[in-house]
Amino acid sequence: MSIPPAQTSERSTHRGNCHCGAVRFTFSISPPLPKYPTNTCNCSICSKNGYLLVYPFTKDFTLETGKEVLRKYMFGLKRSEHKFCGTCGCSCFIEIVEEGAPDIIAVNVRLLEDFDYDILKINKVDGKTFGPEYKV
Ligand SMILES: [Zn+2]
Repeated sequence: MSIPPAQTSERSTHRGNCHCGAVRFTFSISPPLPKYPTNTCNCSICSKNGYLLVYPFTKDFTLETGKEVLRKYMFGLKRSEHKFCGTCGCSCFIEIVEEGAPDIIAVNVRLLEDFDYDILKINKVDGKTFGPEYKV
């Protein structure tokens, strides 16, 4: 599957928030959830954070509140900023800062108001094999 997947004539709009509610965001995506493949990955950061990711275009994503409480975590080649709530610790989304990367943002669908794991079209990614071995 390519990221992002090919768009269709359908789209869906979603609201998400961290556990304490300080961080709130909205986005729209095509194909709509639950048809959109939601990535679950076995790489170190996805495993630790429990990420379930979809990839709206940045123009279709709006951070409504929480800019001031968001903190970022970067590691390895520092190609992306993992944004999490500085109050409750929820992993919210990932901003890709690598030059030439597609204009998308990775959003953790676990934070959606209407989150329902059972309806998602899960796409397993073997990210563990992509990079250098994870060690701490
Ligand atoms: Zn929070």
